[in-house]
Amino acid sequence: MTANEVIDVVEAISKHHPNPQIALNFSTPLELLIATILAAQCTDERVNVVTQSLFKKYRSAEDYANANIDEFEQDIRSTTFYKNKAKMIVGCTKKLLSDFSGNVPSTLQELTTLPGVGRKTASVVMVAAFGVPAIAVDTHVLRVSNRIGLVNAPKDADKVETALRELLPQEMWVSFTLSAVLFGRHVCKAKKPMCGTCLVYEMCKWPDKLKT
Ligand code: SF4
Repeated sequence: MTANEVIDVVEAISKHHPNPQIALNFSTPLELLIATILAAQCTDERVNVVTQSLFKKYRSAEDYANANIDEFEQDIRSTTFYKNKAKMIVGCTKKLLSDFSGNVPSTLQELTTLPGVGRKTASVVMVAAFGVPAIAVDTHVLRVSNRIGLVNAPKDADKVETALRELLPQEMWVSFTLSAVLFGRHVCKAKKPMCGTCLVYEMCKWPDKLKT
């Protein structure tokens, strides 16, 4: 794909979602970090239900770090893998206290030193909490980028992230990350993508688009 075609693809995706917002509810970088860890293998809707009361009970990194683990597990019990997530969040917030004075850092290098925080979670926090250019490759961005033909690495999120960083102008990273997630959820869905009404149709290289 040429540079101009790439820009056309990104603009077409943006037209489907002109004001993209992250689906997780949060009001501080710490809340987004906690919500993003809880959202692994879980729906955003479920996480938003859990965090509604969680964020009232735990307000600082110290509150999470000093939590009684049994009680905290019960507080997040309705999310998937809640025992692991409880350990991760307590470990992560302890590290926030020891290394970052309880504040969430805004760089990929610093964020990925936190237990339970990989490149995807770090990138989500950078993009949505700080507006720092990053590309978060979740299952939707992975599928959409490969189907359209922007990249060719259907099973490797890290490779896709690297390729997209090289392909897209940095000023498009934030809007692409936010709109591509929504595009994957609502248009280029895993099952039954809506190719007939898709604004990327002409540029999309996915051979199966003709069958939908
Ligand atoms: S044409 Fe179909 S497969 Fe291609 S991007 Fe649009 S919805 Fe996805």
